[in-house]
Amino acid sequence: MVPPLVLDIDGTLTTASGRIDARAFELLPDWDAPVVLATGKAFPYPVALSHFLGRAETVIAENGGVVHVDGETTVLGDSEAPRAVVEAFRERGGDPGWGARDTVNRWRETEVALSLDADEPLLREVAAAAGGDVEVVDTGYAYHVKATGVSKGIGLERVGDALGIDPDEFVAVGDSENDASTFAVAGESYAVANADGAARNAADVVLEDSYMDGTAGVLAELRARDGE
Ligand SMILES: [Mg+2]
Repeated sequence: MVPPLVLDIDGTLTTASGRIDARAFELLPDWDAPVVLATGKAFPYPVALSHFLGRAETVIAENGGVVHVDGETTVLGDSEAPRAVVEAFRERGGDPGWGARDTVNRWRETEVALSLDADEPLLREVAAAAGGDVEVVDTGYAYHVKATGVSKGIGLERVGDALGIDPDEFVAVGDSENDASTFAVAGESYAVANADGAARNAADVVLEDSYMDGTAGVLAELRARDGE
C-alpha cells in the first residue's frame, strides 16, 4: 500500500511561476490512500483543487485555521486578533498590498494574508504589540497574520483522528516555514529544493529537485517502494 500524503500546494505542487504543475492531475487522482492538501490559502482553494482532482475534500486551509474532513468543517483559529493587528497596521499607514484583488482574503475565515510587498518591519512591530496572541508567518508567497498556536500540524492531527489514521503514517512534502509543523507530526517528511531554511531544518530529507519535480520524485519513490 502507498502511504497517505499531506501535501502543501504553493511551491510544492506548482511550477516556479506559481501554476499547478500538470503532473498533479496525473499522479494524485488515483493515489490509493488519502491525500490531504495543506495550505496557507483560504479554504475554497484547496477544496476546489481536491474537487477538480476528483478526490475527497480533505483539506487543511489557512495554515491550520480551517480543517475539512469527512464532510465536516472545523474552525481551529480565531480571526479577531489577526484582524485587529491588520487594522492597526493600516492605521499606521501600512498597505496589505493586494490592490483591488480581494480574492486573497475574501473567504479567509481565521487569518489575514498580506502581500510580500507589504511593509514587513511595520507588520512585525504591530503584531509584536499584540502580546503573543498573533504571529506572522512568511510562506514565501504571502505574510500570514494568524492566531498563535494554529498550525498545519495540529490540523493534520485532526484529520488523522477523523480518518482513523495515525499522523505518523503520513508522508509530507512542503516548502516553507508553515510546513515545519506538518513535518513534525508526519512520519516521513520532504522539503523540496526551493524550500526555506525552516522547512529544510524540519524535514527528514531535503530533495535535490525543486517544486513539482521534487514532489513527483517522492511520489515515484513511494510507489516503487510499494511495489517491492
Ligand atoms: Mg508552500
